[in-house]
Amino acid sequence: MPDRKYFQPEIETMPQDKLKALQLERLKMMVEKVYYTNDYYRQLYDRAGVKPGDIKHLEDIQKVPFLEKATVRDAYPLKLVCAPRSELLEMHSTSGTTGKPVLVFATKKDIDIWADLNARELWMVGLRPGDSLLNAYGYGLPTGGFGFHYGAHRMGVLAIPTGSGQADRQVDVLVDVGVTAFCMTPSFALYVGQRAVDRGVNLRNAACKIGLFGAEPWPWSTRLRIEELFGITAYDEFGMTEFLGPGMTCECEVRDRKHGMHAWADTFLAECINPETGEPVEDGADGEIVWTSLVFEGSPLIRYRSRDLSALTWEPCPCGRSHPRISSIKGRTDDAVSISGLIVFPSQVEAALTKFEEMGPNFRMTLETDNRSMDFFTLKVELKHERLLNDKTLLTKLDGQMREEVRNIAGVNPKSIEFVAPDSLPRVTAGEGKTASARVEDKRKKG
Ligand code: ZN
Repeated sequence: MPDRKYFQPEIETMPQDKLKALQLERLKMMVEKVYYTNDYYRQLYDRAGVKPGDIKHLEDIQKVPFLEKATVRDAYPLKLVCAPRSELLEMHSTSGTTGKPVLVFATKKDIDIWADLNARELWMVGLRPGDSLLNAYGYGLPTGGFGFHYGAHRMGVLAIPTGSGQADRQVDVLVDVGVTAFCMTPSFALYVGQRAVDRGVNLRNAACKIGLFGAEPWPWSTRLRIEELFGITAYDEFGMTEFLGPGMTCECEVRDRKHGMHAWADTFLAECINPETGEPVEDGADGEIVWTSLVFEGSPLIRYRSRDLSALTWEPCPCGRSHPRISSIKGRTDDAVSISGLIVFPSQVEAALTKFEEMGPNFRMTLETDNRSMDFFTLKVELKHERLLNDKTLLTKLDGQMREEVRNIAGVNPKSIEFVAPDSLPRVTAGEGKTASARVEDKRKKG
């Protein structure tokens, strides 16, 4: 049988008008289902004055209230379950590091869909029946392990559940078994690759040709480094545990640096909003991605605010898949600030600054107002080594280049940049919500 380009050609290349019609049909059914089967949703929608019959066009989704992370935590443990208990086959969970976790339930049908979505992605990045996939995501409550595992099974690929950790064993299995593809976090890939180098193992000579990486933001430079270490082509994938990610979005062979990953529109409705106003942004503009599950039965989430900063476009892709694309996740939107009406994300500033190898661990934005009531911001940037502060030529060069890069990415120029010693600024911690206060100081007069 000749090789086919797509795993599910009819769905993957469905004309966009048909795809949107399918989304509308499924959205109507989903809103109706949760309204009539789930008390939590019904109360939420009654409070917002929304009835299932109000959904007549796709845009009507804007009438439906958002699910915030706090709302969903409030529903712990079982309030968002929409299927009979006897039909639930599998439970997963977010980490719950910042409060109650979100429990995610899947029925038989959900697991079937999950397997298809992951098979689509594995096929899309070049795996075929007979290949093998080393899966270094955790096989536990998070969804990375099982998602790719089911996908590999669905398309006839040998699944190798090495799970997370144990870099030496990962290297051994990759080489000794002749594995052709693997998936893990980018930071772990760097570690595994370096471990192989330290042991004198040249992974570039191994059979492996494809790598899938996700679960954390990773700059393009990391991608190049991983490709060099392993001798592979690296692809970006992204999913949220709340929606049984992986299987939500993945890059195709085009690996479009701007537009990013296809988001499967038959299964998920993705919106991109201005995080301050909740209004949709234009196609291709930066904003927060909001996800709606169109088909899951177990614990479907509708209009769930991801707090992930990305951009969404329906611009056609040369690969022939009609599904929209989201750009690689650029950071969190929790700490968005408005500078004279322009939304700026500290994560955009960070993305610009970290392109410079002289950049140290932290930076800080200070927002102020000038005497014409115009907002502006200045930057304090830590350098990697204190001695760099004495190199005036370097500082002048960095000042110019960093401003240019910040303007390219965030659309606004810092008024000044002050370079400071490493670890002299308030430290950003991993905890959600602390990010904003550590990175942004707002000295503007309110009102
Ligand atoms: Zn494509």
